[in-house]
Amino acid sequence: MRVLAIDQGTTSTRAILVDGRGRVIGEAQRAFKQHYPKPGWVEHDPLEIWRTVVDTVKAVCAKHPGPVAAVGITNQRETTVVWDRRTGKPVYNAIVWQCRRTTDACRALQAHAPLFRRRTGLPLDAYFSGTKIRWILDHVQPKNPARLACGTIDSWLIWNLTGGQTHATDYTNASRTLLFNIHKRRWDPNLCNLLGVPPSLLPHVKSSIDDYGLVTGIPALKGVPIFGVAGDQQAALFGQTCFSRGQSKSTYGTGAFLLMHTGKKAVTSKRGLITTLTAQPDGSCGYALEGSVFIAGAAIQWLRDELKIISRSADSEAAARALSDNGGVYLVPAFVGLGAPHWDMDARGTIVGLTRGTNRKHLIRAALESIAFQVADVLDAMQADTRTKLPRLAVDGGAVQNDFLMQFQADMLGVPVQRPANVESTALGAAYLAGLKAGVWQNGNALAAQKRAGRTFKPTMKPAERQRLRAGWQHAIRQTRTP
Ligand code: ADP
Repeated sequence: MRVLAIDQGTTSTRAILVDGRGRVIGEAQRAFKQHYPKPGWVEHDPLEIWRTVVDTVKAVCAKHPGPVAAVGITNQRETTVVWDRRTGKPVYNAIVWQCRRTTDACRALQAHAPLFRRRTGLPLDAYFSGTKIRWILDHVQPKNPARLACGTIDSWLIWNLTGGQTHATDYTNASRTLLFNIHKRRWDPNLCNLLGVPPSLLPHVKSSIDDYGLVTGIPALKGVPIFGVAGDQQAALFGQTCFSRGQSKSTYGTGAFLLMHTGKKAVTSKRGLITTLTAQPDGSCGYALEGSVFIAGAAIQWLRDELKIISRSADSEAAARALSDNGGVYLVPAFVGLGAPHWDMDARGTIVGLTRGTNRKHLIRAALESIAFQVADVLDAMQADTRTKLPRLAVDGGAVQNDFLMQFQADMLGVPVQRPANVESTALGAAYLAGLKAGVWQNGNALAAQKRAGRTFKPTMKPAERQRLRAGWQHAIRQTRTP
């Protein structure tokens, strides 16, 4: 029995076929265009995203023909699409989670921030979907708003996959909108009102393991049920088989996201972490604390695509290793503000410690180190909030292939970093969700039993050196923060 996972990420879309033992038997990937219409703004073309889904699914099914038991979807979270139900066409580009255009709209609502925080677990920040939906409605000024539908990327894909039959989202994606009460598990009419989002536009919210309808939109998958849906970070948590309190993982993709499961209890952070819903193997919801870092692997992409000082992301490793240390250079990649634990919407990127001898390798090393420093800051906040000490950190995502980064991360944390054999936890999580409902796997224990270890990175740095480097980073953060 095989399950197909669609992993619609921030920079690329993947379709991955997984067999009954949790092994990846085929994969196709397509990158798509990032639009930066103004400083701090980020958009995607929803139709291009849909085409990458069609292309990757077609490619992987053609290469590995045979029956597929179910489809699971995981997606970049918060990114928002508004479309016309009748034509199926988006009315504007997708506004990406990283986009800062609604910073002022958030500021105008600050008096209500405690209410949003209590009900949704989120700070009032441009990162989340609510203000993005309102921005699109204000910008487009639709003549007939009743014809519109909105949703995060999961909803957009479900709509297209089912030929417009299903307008739905799952609990984990809903918990990222600022419109969803995570305690009562329903859209909150007060919050919708405050943000000016008509509830009639919103998708139906379902469990992450549920029946989302049959695929009609891609011939290779015609008639296959969509049985699993979760936001990328919750899918990665699931893929790492973190189902219970105290289990955690950190994913290094475009951003970096550290999630710690808090069981059936919603924990409120005092240190800038957010409270979010998780998917559980029995179809219920749990809670997690999350530290969201907006720019991680994207800093390496920036070196490649904007500065053009490396030609492939993987080249960053050799460049960093060619130096014995960072030479006092720190890069704070606050390109779209700072997320956890600072939540500073107006901060922008900073490089400190430049000297006459600084060269491209220092910038590359500083970019890699910045990823580890940011995750270390988030982990400190999480340990303090939960009064626990993590014995190790489970990691996954595209950038964990960088051994320099992983070793530096272990050194900055002072605990081992565990990389699984398959670093695509996000796609695995989506496959697991769908496969549980299809009967490919019986329960969470069966999933945990098939997990395969990869490599563990043990800390080797002396504590004094770690403290020196982290103090240098804190100094750079202070230079970056808005007063
Ligand atoms: P997403 O799902 O957010 O699109 P992925 O998990 O596919 O992200 O990871 C891609 C990110 O990881 C990119 O930002 C890329 O620059 C970065 N990345 C990939 N390989 C490496 C590497 N060897 N070293 C550092 N960064 C890398």
